[in-house]
Amino acid sequence: MLTGTCHCGATHWTLEGDPGPATACNCTLCVRYGTLWAYDYENERIRVHGPHASYTRADTAEPSLEILFCPTCACVLS
Ligand SMILES: [Zn+2]
Repeated sequence: MLTGTCHCGATHWTLEGDPGPATACNCTLCVRYGTLWAYDYENERIRVHGPHASYTRADTAEPSLEILFCPTCACVLS
């Protein structure tokens, strides 16, 4: 299991089981975040606990990804 928390500690996440290979995405958003991503579905193997907000691309009709972040410290969660 992997676990993580935001900077202020208000929100944390868990990923159950083997996370598999992590991805260093080179899109314009992920390069700015500087993250490594492990993928699964929220409320299946990935659970986010505590307050969180989301961002999806506004310039795409059907955005395929949603970025979750803490509304207090703005730390990216998943
Ligand atoms: Zn926070």
